[in-house]
Amino acid sequence: SQPIHVIGGGLAGCEAAWQIARRDIPVVLHEMRPHRTTPAHQTDGLAELVCSNSLRSDDAEYNAVGLLHAELRQAGSLIMQAADECKVPAGGALAVDREGFSVRVGQKLTALPQVTVIREEVAGLPPADWDSVVIATGPLTSEPLAQAIGGLTGEEQLSFFDAIAPIVHKDSIDFSKAWYQSRYDKGDGTDYINCPLSKEQYHGFIDALLEGARVAFHEWEKDTPYFEGCLPIEVMAERGRETLAFGPMKPVGLTDPNGPKPHAIIQLRQDNALGTLWNMVGFQTKLRHADQVRVFRMIPGLEGAEFARLGGMHRNTFVKGPLVLDGSLRLKASPRIRLAGQITGCEGYVESTAIGLLAGLFAAAERLERDIPAPPVTTALGAILAHVTGGGMVETYQPMNVNFGLFPPAPERDERGKRVKGRDRKRLYTVRAAADYAPWLSSISSIL
Ligand code: FAD
Repeated sequence: SQPIHVIGGGLAGCEAAWQIARRDIPVVLHEMRPHRTTPAHQTDGLAELVCSNSLRSDDAEYNAVGLLHAELRQAGSLIMQAADECKVPAGGALAVDREGFSVRVGQKLTALPQVTVIREEVAGLPPADWDSVVIATGPLTSEPLAQAIGGLTGEEQLSFFDAIAPIVHKDSIDFSKAWYQSRYDKGDGTDYINCPLSKEQYHGFIDALLEGARVAFHEWEKDTPYFEGCLPIEVMAERGRETLAFGPMKPVGLTDPNGPKPHAIIQLRQDNALGTLWNMVGFQTKLRHADQVRVFRMIPGLEGAEFARLGGMHRNTFVKGPLVLDGSLRLKASPRIRLAGQITGCEGYVESTAIGLLAGLFAAAERLERDIPAPPVTTALGAILAHVTGGGMVETYQPMNVNFGLFPPAPERDERGKRVKGRDRKRLYTVRAAADYAPWLSSISSIL
């Protein structure tokens, strides 16, 4: 039968190709390196890790990415197999020998007779006679292909840079200080959460912001455009001590029910359909993560904030997944094409692998004319899929790591009615996920 074409031999593309080939379907993997490279890749190896050699926490009991590891392993993931075989000591994290890992992925994949690897750039729309295509070209997709994707989705749905504001778990906000209100009481009264700062608190906050250590841009990111209206907050603060108080932190149209008129406020806006995650409006930043946590916890109401994602700005090609993708990762504008990996708006090695695995399964099922269900949203695979295909808020859509805030909230009490908090609550998520994952996986195995 006709092969499925996978474009991009990174983490997502290799995983997708593997899942397809293991269902005895021919697959052609197109990788542009070494003929053309990206600014971050250094080798011509498949599944090259462009930065850290860590796949983060391997704790499947208390950590969302560790749970994703476990689910991927059970689903026969190539990337997880290679990672486990090339593991280096890293405490509770899963870190790998990066060269050995890349070689191992390449060896395992090319050992499958159904797989052909072609070293070429797909420099534009995939040829019309490729009836099933997975595009997994990553955050540094080559320009002609990115333009072609933008042509299909509409350019405003494709970004070349991210501008990430921190996201807070709602249940870590102190509502004895924060309150719900929209500016001038427009819209629904629960659209925004506000945190007040007195003059003194505001100036302490500005000092800390200006002193915070910043992450430098890579050489090849130096031309990152700073759009007015999307400046990092520390750059805004540099322009004048009151700039933020007249910008994203302006207190007008808001009344603190708990105290005097604030000098400044920060607003949080709902970030996922479930309402568990809230982003700090206008707070995109290049501060180092540790400094973000320290500085943002100075804000009244956020002293105990738990962050689902910290802020950042990078070169990063990604689409507004929830707008342009259907539930099985197909482009609504061109259903023969699926997207996979970071280009869908997930973030991270493991998340990219997960979306690659799912794209591979969906493409294989379609080729075999079988229907497969999506993983339950209570599982890590289901939660990250839901983020890129529907759960993420379109207006503020930015790349996202897997985290428990993407899952439907777990019960707050255990089977004996006792209130469960912190670490124990995390365990409720992973126990529920494991119970829901097993039947899904066995249904997939019986269909595919
Ligand atoms: P990639 O792994 O980038 O694979 C895409 C592949 O497609 C590449 O091999 C590329 O050469 C190829 N390609 C591109 N265009 C074409 C084309 N037109 N035709 C054919 N082939 C093409 N995540 C983490 O978890 N930890 C980190 O430390 C980390 N550091 C990062 C550092 C940088 C500089 C960047 C940019 C990202 C980083 N990420 C990190 C985020 C992300 O998880 C990785 O980029 C991850 O590799 C994404 O997987 P992917 O498969 O979607 O894309």
